[in-house]
Amino acid sequence: MPAPDLETIVSLAKRRGFVFPSAEIYGGFANAYDYGPLGVELKRNIREAWWRSMVQERDDVVGLDAALITNPLVWVGSGHVANFTDPLVDCKRCQRRFRADHLEEGAYGEVPRDANGNPLCPYDGGELTEPRQFNMMFRTQVGPVADEANMAYLPPETAQGIFVNFVNVQQSMRRKLPFGIAQTRVSFRNEITPGRFIFRTLEFEQMEMEYFCMPPRDRDNPVEYLALHRQWVEERLRWYIEVIGIAPERLRLRDHDKDELSHYSAATTDIEYLFPWGWGELEGIAARTDFDLSSHAKLSGQPLTYFDEDTGQHVVPWVIEPAAGLTRTLAVVLLDAYSEEPDEKGEKRVVLKFKPRLAPIKVAVLPLSKNDALRPTARRVYDMLRPLWMTQYDETQSIGRRYRRQDEIGTPCCVTIDFQTVGEDGQPGDDCVTIRDRDTQAQVRVPISGLVAALEERVPRC
Ligand code: ATP
Repeated sequence: MPAPDLETIVSLAKRRGFVFPSAEIYGGFANAYDYGPLGVELKRNIREAWWRSMVQERDDVVGLDAALITNPLVWVGSGHVANFTDPLVDCKRCQRRFRADHLEEGAYGEVPRDANGNPLCPYDGGELTEPRQFNMMFRTQVGPVADEANMAYLPPETAQGIFVNFVNVQQSMRRKLPFGIAQTRVSFRNEITPGRFIFRTLEFEQMEMEYFCMPPRDRDNPVEYLALHRQWVEERLRWYIEVIGIAPERLRLRDHDKDELSHYSAATTDIEYLFPWGWGELEGIAARTDFDLSSHAKLSGQPLTYFDEDTGQHVVPWVIEPAAGLTRTLAVVLLDAYSEEPDEKGEKRVVLKFKPRLAPIKVAVLPLSKNDALRPTARRVYDMLRPLWMTQYDETQSIGRRYRRQDEIGTPCCVTIDFQTVGEDGQPGDDCVTIRDRDTQAQVRVPISGLVAALEERVPRC
């Protein structure tokens, strides 16, 4: 089935408690969203799937959680103070502000142009100012005095906390090259382009890893380094397909051209997703050479090197950086999981076909009807399952409607307790319940004593 349009997902996300426009009672706030009860679970599950693949299941990567607000020199050393800028233009008529590069890339759709082919305001065709560079970092102040000496930045990415801790981590964990340091956390960018839901927001979560390796023998022709970069590109693509369950035909790799690469980068490849408006970046895998460690070493005066016991030399490691957007991945997971198909009665049902490990609610416990005879057993089943999985209990409305509701939030298994379970008319029950599968809608009956084992085959505990 083709991907749904964005409005369908935005509306489902709000209606079902995944993502709300932020501060809606005050008219909202551009490019800011709040994650509801199901969104926070989905986000947690994606983050955990990343951490599991990148840290837990590897013996060459460790984790880190660096301070958000830190010494502003970090952002001088990284080059962000000087270079983390976007070219901005203003409409002279309506004063609206645009990113010059995004006007050219079509982020505002087809834009009107003047006689020389220069873009005009996409809203009212007004003339635009010359581009001026605008730094995208948010500034804040530490302490009561608002002067330059107390100024700090909110981090626009997670990577720098890793670079400035390279020696701490390497020495405390006694790591040998190659090894990686992974971090997931919020980043802030003063984005002014229209957001397209949570694709581009002011604050967003990132999942980044810096993989440090030996410098190549030949800096000008770093064959082994580029091969390592390729390995990480393949590994990250595999993760989106096999672990996250994204349709491979909606993913592609895009290598940056030479003129698109930053001066220090040996190669960058983006993993792109086919969004309703076209291909867009989901993750960038950058071969950043030794640029960051060298820059921080220069500014701080501290050596950020590794002692190579084999050669007896101190070397500056080179780095591969897979940088993913957690919240952008969440948008992709919602878009990609969306499906409309016939239900048992041939009527339309909406299903979010998440990989079971990503589903916010893993199991729904549903007594056949709201009934005192069913409730004690249903509650017993619920109490048994909830320490093991995110479980929801629901006894309101007809069972069909409750199945629909669970389909729409992507719950892999519904467990139904009926009168056969508890017995009726003086007859004893069979103490069996029904498991209904979200995707096939098939139902199987299992004894309550074997329910956990039966569910474990269908939904992972993690
Ligand atoms: P873009 O070109 O889309 O602005 P970028 O190349 O600046 O992205 P990176 O700095 O490489 O992005 O960040 C790594 C990842 O972080 C991106 O692939 C994306 O998934 C995510 N990301 C970056 N900016 C935002 C944002 N404003 N909102 C949500 N996610 C973001």
